[in-house]
Amino acid sequence: IKWTEGRGWHEAQLVPYAPLSLDPANMTLHYAQTIFEGLKAYRRPDGSVATFRPEANAERFQRSARRLAMPELPVETFVAACDALVRQDKAWVPAHGEASLYLRPFMIATEVGLGVKPANEYLFVVIASPAGAYFPGGVQPVSVWLSEDYVRAVKGGTGAAKTGGNYAASLVAQAEAAAKGCDQVVWLDAVEHRWVEEMGGMNLYFVYGDHIVTPELSGSLLPGITRDSLLTLARDLGYTAEERRISTEEWRRDTEEGRLTEVFACGTAAVITPVGTVKSAGAEWTQGDGTPGTVTMRLREGLLGLQSGAVADTHGWMHELG
Ligand code: PMP
Repeated sequence: IKWTEGRGWHEAQLVPYAPLSLDPANMTLHYAQTIFEGLKAYRRPDGSVATFRPEANAERFQRSARRLAMPELPVETFVAACDALVRQDKAWVPAHGEASLYLRPFMIATEVGLGVKPANEYLFVVIASPAGAYFPGGVQPVSVWLSEDYVRAVKGGTGAAKTGGNYAASLVAQAEAAAKGCDQVVWLDAVEHRWVEEMGGMNLYFVYGDHIVTPELSGSLLPGITRDSLLTLARDLGYTAEERRISTEEWRRDTEEGRLTEVFACGTAAVITPVGTVKSAGAEWTQGDGTPGTVTMRLREGLLGLQSGAVADTHGWMHELG
């Protein structure tokens, strides 16, 4: 779907997958006005297909657009575009289970010009790709590196938007984590390097027995849709859930003193991933005995069960496509 100043959204088309042709002076290539989303379509046991909370992705896409001075796509148009692609590619939605059809809606500027200003032409596209189970060999805890040298986002910056530049800025920290023998980076706040924000592509949860805590929306972390869903789902399953600041000292102390029993990360790609070993410049510790915790696995099964249609959708989160 195209957008032009004065004309708005027009020319919705469903076309075969093909390369985009871009002018070398395309403004996105230089000034990075680019935003995206990620969501999944699941096959239910009866063969029908449904996406998980696409309206929530559409609303986050609008917030990202506002932050990047891009035009807002109506929620219904975003959802209708995803629906049209899933219906077209229905045969590609894998059989029931953890596998899914991953959808990647995105928007770029298409105006040609070398001046720095919001573009006056944009293109919204949705592509899709089948995605297998994230842990085909069973759920494995990830090891994480607490990044003190780099920050992902600052207050007033673009951290709460899903824009390419945030991910470009994270690559060097991800490489540092790998060099330290860790799978993922954990980002801390930009001022004190003390408050936990989020992981590379997932939000974090801390399990204190029957009470789960997730870092509050600081303005510089991405408001994950999985994070938001788990606040509700955890309460459904009898846990209490809280959003508050949590520091790295608390993380370490409460783990060592046995109060903080499990830590997990959550996001569309892996749904829920247990965190095992935690490393920073001056410390190293491991959550539990290095195997996935019981609360982590219960929430994982609850959410996946709902998404794959095995558990009743009491919140109306599944968008049924027949
Ligand atoms: N944080 C970041 C930086 C992400 O890229 C993602 C993935 N979209 C998340 C958190 C988790 O968000 P969601 O649950 O909406 O996938």
